[in-house]
Amino acid sequence: MRSRKPLVVGNWKMNGDRASGERLLSALVKGVDAALGARVGVAVCPPYPYLEQARAALEGAPIELGAQDVSSFDNGAYTGEVSATMLLDFGCRWAIVGHSERRALFGDDDEAVVAKAGRALEHGLGVIVCVGETLDEREGELTETVLARQVGALKAIGSKADAQRFVVAYEPVWAIGTGRTASPEQAQSAHAFIRARLADAGFAAATNTRILYGGSVKPANAESLFAMPDIDGGLIGGAALSADDFIAIARAAANAQG
Ligand code: PEP
Repeated sequence: MRSRKPLVVGNWKMNGDRASGERLLSALVKGVDAALGARVGVAVCPPYPYLEQARAALEGAPIELGAQDVSSFDNGAYTGEVSATMLLDFGCRWAIVGHSERRALFGDDDEAVVAKAGRALEHGLGVIVCVGETLDEREGELTETVLARQVGALKAIGSKADAQRFVVAYEPVWAIGTGRTASPEQAQSAHAFIRARLADAGFAAATNTRILYGGSVKPANAESLFAMPDIDGGLIGGAALSADDFIAIARAAANAQG
């Protein structure tokens, strides 16, 4: 039995609409019962406009709500931004920060990531901070250099981060949405490295911090990934859009718990 309760988070990205969201949410509410919720944390992160719909649908269910990003600013003249307090107002427990798509397409660098995560934590919003190397970086044997830089940049928030509200997701960029998964051994080695770097960066809670794996997790590969000692659940993209697959992945995380 591990001391860290596993967590499985669905990142819906910019997919779906009101009707498909309703179907997905109602299937999740039926499939994630209290017994499963007691063994594994489950959360979904729909697009911003659907947060209220999801909040209402998930009421009373053991499924938490999260957003896919959060502003580094407090409320004010920041057109297009959504603040941590707004997300809390809509029942969010989590915000994903530094997803590789935001890093690659929207200019979220290490500095922006730590500013967003710090602001969220300050307001009591949990964060799931994504880190991971590109294919070129892995092939250039730079995986640990990149992870050390990305985790090291979080040093400024080490003292604000407790194990309940601070989660890291290791997402090798080459495995996201590609169908190509890191092997359990590759992922375990990255997770152990990240945990050690968190401790070096002043995260007192490093031993208890949940480190999720993300990158083409499916029901077929979830169990072997989650069996690894430093893999504490998953951040799930494509498979989170199917209630059956997502629930099967949550069950795999619960089973890995022992
Ligand atoms: C993600 O985008 O966080 C992700 C892991 O996507 P996928 O599961 O589709 O690879």
